[in-house]
Formats: sequence, structure tokens, C-alpha cells
Amino acid sequence: PTASDLARAERLIGEVKDYPAPGILFRDIMPLLADGPALRTTVDALIEPFLGKFDVIAGLEARGFLLASAAAYASGVGLFPIRKAGKLPRPAASVGYELEYGVAEVEAHNDVPQGSRVLLIDDVLATGGTLIAARQLLRELGYEVAGIAVLFEIDGLGGRSALEDPHLHTVFRS
Ligand code: AMP
Repeated sequence: PTASDLARAERLIGEVKDYPAPGILFRDIMPLLADGPALRTTVDALIEPFLGKFDVIAGLEARGFLLASAAAYASGVGLFPIRKAGKLPRPAASVGYELEYGVAEVEAHNDVPQGSRVLLIDDVLATGGTLIAARQLLRELGYEVAGIAVLFEIDGLGGRSALEDPHLHTVFRS
């Protein structure tokens, strides 16, 4: 993708003040997803550094699913959805993590072979808690985390240093 294609896509990310709680600036990727060229540019930019280095793409519920699904189709690999707790029909592996208020869990089945190289995708990196839990879940299932690709990195919430991952790639940040 060219720099101007990416700049155009970035301008389509909305900002919603005080959503879902006071003090939070919500990054709204829906207008970007709604635009064909921006969606393609963004998905291409997400996977570009990792091409040839992964066997499957994992996406985090719910907005991560949208990007991961397009990225898996574009790169010809399978899709591995990581779900919030309590939604999977078969016994699942699970990792808990702390939220600002309360706790959460991510869950997945082991539907891809042991040793698979997984590219993990989500829409926004804030504190990093969600991706740390998802990465842990993938490792517990016996997969190799080939990389973590995020559309939008929020600076100043410590996500990058909390993740401490040499294979973290973010397309946009502020
Ligand atoms: P965190 O675990 O703190 O890094 O939060 C990341 C997860 O929460 C991602 O799955 C995002 O979809 C969501 N999220 C956190 N903060 C925001 C925000 N400011 N705007 C949009 N989504 C957010």
C-alpha cells in the first residue's frame, strides 16, 4: 500500500468521546471498514511484514474478527477465532485477564495443528491486556505466535511495553 492510500484510510477512523465510559476516546474503525479501497489497503498493510511466515490467522472477538477474516482470505490461510468467554460449543482452552473494571476471559478450540505459526490480529491496542491473554492462549494450545498485527495503537496506555513483543506491528498510532 502507498503512503497516501494509508493516510486516506487513517482519516476514516472515527473518534467518539466518552464511549463506552467517561474519559475514553473510542477509535471507531467502522467507517474505514465501509470503504472498499481503505479496507483493502489496511488489510494488506496489516499482513505485509509477515507474509510467508504464518500458517493461520487468529482474530479477537469482535472487531478483530472482521480484519482477521479478510486477512485470512487475502493470504489464503485459515481463520482461527478467539472468543470471549462462554460462547464456544465444545470444551475450550481459556485464559483470564484483568480489565479496568473486572475480569475477562478469551477462549478457543484447538482446531489447527500443533506447531502452527499463528498471526494474531486485533483492531486496537490500548493497555495490551487483551493481546497478552490471547498470545498466552495460543501458546498454551501449542501454537507459535508468528506475529501480532494491530490496526491502531494508542500511545500512552503502555500496550507496546506491556506486550514486549519483537513481532508487534501496528499500522496507525496516536
Ligand atoms: P486492551 O486490552 O486494553 O489493549 O484493549 C484492547 C481491546 O479493547 C481491543 O480488542 C479493542 O477493540 C478494545 N479497545 C480498547 N480501547 C479502545 C478504544 N479506545 N477504542 C476502540 N477500542 C478499544
